[in-house]
Amino acid sequence: MIDTLYIEESIRHHPRTISICERFPKARKIICERYGEVFNPKAQNFRLQKQNPALILAEKYKNFALPAPPAYGIGAEKNYYFSHMLNCLYDCRYCFLQGMFQSAHYVLFVNYEDYQQDIRQICNATANEPIHFFSGYDCDSLALEPVTGFAEHFLPFFADIPNAWLELRTKSTQIRSLLNREPFPRCIIAFSLSPDEIARKVEDKAPSLLRRLDALDKLQDQGWPIGLRFDPLIYQTAYQEQYKNMFEQVFSRIKPELLHSVSLGVFRLPEKYFKKIHKLYPEEKLFASPLETRQKMTSYKTELEQEMMQYCTEQLLSYIPESKFFPCTL
Ligand code: SF4
Repeated sequence: MIDTLYIEESIRHHPRTISICERFPKARKIICERYGEVFNPKAQNFRLQKQNPALILAEKYKNFALPAPPAYGIGAEKNYYFSHMLNCLYDCRYCFLQGMFQSAHYVLFVNYEDYQQDIRQICNATANEPIHFFSGYDCDSLALEPVTGFAEHFLPFFADIPNAWLELRTKSTQIRSLLNREPFPRCIIAFSLSPDEIARKVEDKAPSLLRRLDALDKLQDQGWPIGLRFDPLIYQTAYQEQYKNMFEQVFSRIKPELLHSVSLGVFRLPEKYFKKIHKLYPEEKLFASPLETRQKMTSYKTELEQEMMQYCTEQLLSYIPESKFFPCTL
């Protein structure tokens, strides 16, 4: 799956680097000074690279956990996000990473312990307040778990800090490291879900809805707090029927009373990312939808956006109480 590894000189002897290299004995290994040399140059084609991305092993020096954008949270006052990786195994056509990064190569920052030190300091500074940390902002939290061991390393760490909450955002069925340990109530496993008819068109390489539901089911059975993220809602002429059927399917498997939270938001992208992605995929039907740009964000026309939010909100509130519902209106 990975035939080229770029490795920063400073971490070439790091134990995590060594064990990842051992997983890919046939991969070409190229030593570099800083990952930006490979990742940042402008003359790269994200679409072409996405066909065969390399894995870049790098060290992160600063900005380990950052305050989350407003409205990103699920009820807590203090929200941070952190990314042990940049880019993703899957290829969702609506993904903002395609607009944000020049390169589709995966970057993995191997110095997990420095992230943990930073997170511990943030939690110690306000020890009486719950602090939520979101992983899966610049990547999928679990998709490369067998390679990264991310959850395996971070779950015991978070379990040990009484005021730290962790949300793992994913579409992946790589849940073995979760099932292998005791669940803890401050770790929410949040799955992004779309109707299958939509996922097949715009979530290339991601597991089907059924496989995500199987994973959710197992996790909920074992006692993990589950989050459902219906975000982004994607418009198709039959969207009402598609979403109605999906909600029925989801709640025939998932116990609403044990859910941690449900969020909902329509397709939206910063205008400059939208323009870049549209150029990469001019033939993509998603971008021929009734879209408009308001305050530098490109999304569905206001009336359509409101109609979609209202319809799906009504549907969802027939299954879950309002206290678990977090619509995203940005
Ligand atoms: S799963 Fe998430 S991070 Fe990965 S391509 Fe899809 S939207 Fe982007």
